[in-house]
Amino acid sequence: MYQDCEQILFTPDEIATRVAELGAELTKTYHDQYPVIVTVMTGAAIFTADLIRQLNFPISLDYIDIASYGSSSTSHNVRLLRDLATDITDRPVIIVEDIIDTGNSLQFLLQHFANRGAKSIVTCAMLDKPGRREVDLEADYVGFKVPDEFIVGYGLDYNHQYRNLPAIAILKHEIYD
Ligand code: 5GP
Ligand code: MG
Ligand code: MG
Repeated sequence: MYQDCEQILFTPDEIATRVAELGAELTKTYHDQYPVIVTVMTGAAIFTADLIRQLNFPISLDYIDIASYGSSSTSHNVRLLRDLATDITDRPVIIVEDIIDTGNSLQFLLQHFANRGAKSIVTCAMLDKPGRREVDLEADYVGFKVPDEFIVGYGLDYNHQYRNLPAIAILKHEIYD
């Protein structure tokens, strides 16, 4: 799979170090708050699995599945495919995302969890592509900033592939052009 990649941005060791730092930051704030960790499927599944094992305090874990429709660069439409099973009323919610790109997904999720009565909502994103933002939103916790390229690995796919790549990498343009 690495032969389809232009460049490795972050190695598994670099990822593990950063995930441990994020876990320590979250622990400071949430160790006594019993938060709901919400993983946004499917891209954030691997990040979530690593991150929550850095949290040595009580949490609940749930997942949500959403889809954007229209072309990724122009769509403001996000559709809910699977909602939470947990009642988040008066609970702190930590959204775990793979990557914040345009920010449209994040905007939808923040509104959705506010409607469900969350006590507080923060976002922890493994990656941030700030160059492509369409809505003025930022994640509260970010693993790494990435350039405006198509990223795969560590949960992120292209056409359902590469999620199991242990590193985070830039996909060669020739794969999708
Ligand atoms: P948004 O544009 O709404 O901020 O991001 C929506 C979703 O698009 C992300 O959660 C992610 O699933 C996908 N996405 C955005 N940029 C990339 C990228 O570079 N690589 C991959 N694999 N997915 C991306
Ligand atoms: Mg996502
Ligand atoms: Mg995808």
